Amino acid sequence: MLFKRAAAACIYPRLPSQLCRIRCPKYSPQLVVHRSCSSHATATATTPPSTSNADHRQLAVQQELFTTSIYSPGSPILLPNGARIFNRLVAFLRQQYTRYGFDEVITPTIYKKALWEKSGHLENYSDDMFTVTSTSTSRGDMSKGGEGDEYGLKPMNCPGHCLIFASQRRSYRDLPIRYADFSPLHRNEISGALSGLTRVRRFHQDDGHIFCRPSQIEEEIRKTLDFVRVVYSTFKLGPYRLTLSTRPKDQYIGTIDEWEVAEGALKRALDASEQDWTINEGDGAFYGPKIDIILRDSDGKEHQTATIQLDFQLPKRFELGYIAPAPEYERRGETTTDPDALNETGLVTPVLVHRAVLGSVERLMALLIEHYNGNWPFWLNPRQVMIVTVNNSEPVLEHARAVQDILMGRQGSPEIPVSQATGLVVDIDDRQVSIGAKSRQAKSRGYSVVLTAGPRQLSSGTITCDLSRLESDGKTPKGELIEMLPLELLEILKAKAGAYL
Ligand SMILES: [Zn+2]
Repeated sequence: MLFKRAAAACIYPRLPSQLCRIRCPKYSPQLVVHRSCSSHATATATTPPSTSNADHRQLAVQQELFTTSIYSPGSPILLPNGARIFNRLVAFLRQQYTRYGFDEVITPTIYKKALWEKSGHLENYSDDMFTVTSTSTSRGDMSKGGEGDEYGLKPMNCPGHCLIFASQRRSYRDLPIRYADFSPLHRNEISGALSGLTRVRRFHQDDGHIFCRPSQIEEEIRKTLDFVRVVYSTFKLGPYRLTLSTRPKDQYIGTIDEWEVAEGALKRALDASEQDWTINEGDGAFYGPKIDIILRDSDGKEHQTATIQLDFQLPKRFELGYIAPAPEYERRGETTTDPDALNETGLVTPVLVHRAVLGSVERLMALLIEHYNGNWPFWLNPRQVMIVTVNNSEPVLEHARAVQDILMGRQGSPEIPVSQATGLVVDIDDRQVSIGAKSRQAKSRGYSVVLTAGPRQLSSGTITCDLSRLESDGKTPKGELIEMLPLELLEILKAKAGAYL
């Protein structure tokens, strides 16, 4: 076997309940990685009204979100509706990355065993990893240049991001450097534990790594906590609490000074967040202190989601460094005006912050599926607009299709040769069924907006809009029978989606 088992040295999707413990004998008999599963998340203290305890797997069938296959156990297959939600979550985060200064990178899925040796995964995490080898042993190039080496499917992005940091000479002026990555990750969960979107072998994280100076830790954590607040309030998830896990008693790397600087910075950032936080004395990972974000649902059940982990270990393993004046002060996160000290420059190891706000995108989807229970906010809804036709005469069908084209941004023009899709999902129900029945069915299937196209609107080019299911924002007209031009409606819907409502 290529890899052997032990504990993760990075953000693991932390799934509530059904905790399982993985021990890391090399570093600490106490080191425990908690994993669990969140298949029973239901509602929040605010909105939306989720009254059912339905499991996300059942809801996913009703809403046609994802399926699974015996040919790839533990790898959810997202159907078009599921992919829409996934892509909107990712697009939402990308918008926030602009504000929070993250640069997205695209990194390999497989790396040679030598990389996992360097990162410590080979030693500590191998049982949870998949090995990749070439099946073409007869090929001539397999014996040359290590081409026949064994590879590992990546379970985490951090080593790849360390390679990017190491690819250039860095100065203290370049820091902080923040990389974001949505790469698929693979972890070899035992087959009996696999379930829906919560216990999987293939998933994506909204993974981020911040390489910063010791003096920048507090500001980076403060910003990350703000990021968490913005994201969870957009989803109307919460309340949540924060816990700080500090230096383990015995097994830890780094100096006590380093830990004290880091823990002091984390505490100040937590105080500044004005959120409740508690301390888990001695419960930090061996490689650094961490903050966990624990969501509470309306049943009082807690779900661990986002994690922020400081890491003194990985930058050392990868021999990362940046040039700074007064390196002795720099290492302690201090500044000096002493000219002799400032004349000296040296290499300082950056602090690495692993952070994920959603954690596993798939697992957060599971939580949201149960949280919204079919009442998706418009921006996330995979079923946004349904046009029901009064009859299926050709002029009415043509009108319905024209409205669909306008709302989806599908109509072409010589001035705009490339597509300007709006990203809205607009379906047509032209079955020969009464409009009352079609309209009721559209609502029960979760469509946010139901439009009626009939012969009455052919001369005006308008459409009858039922916007009663849209969340009120003070601007959107309310009512079930609003006559509107498709372009007027488009502006309203674009504003809704753009405001994440
Ligand atoms: Zn990481």
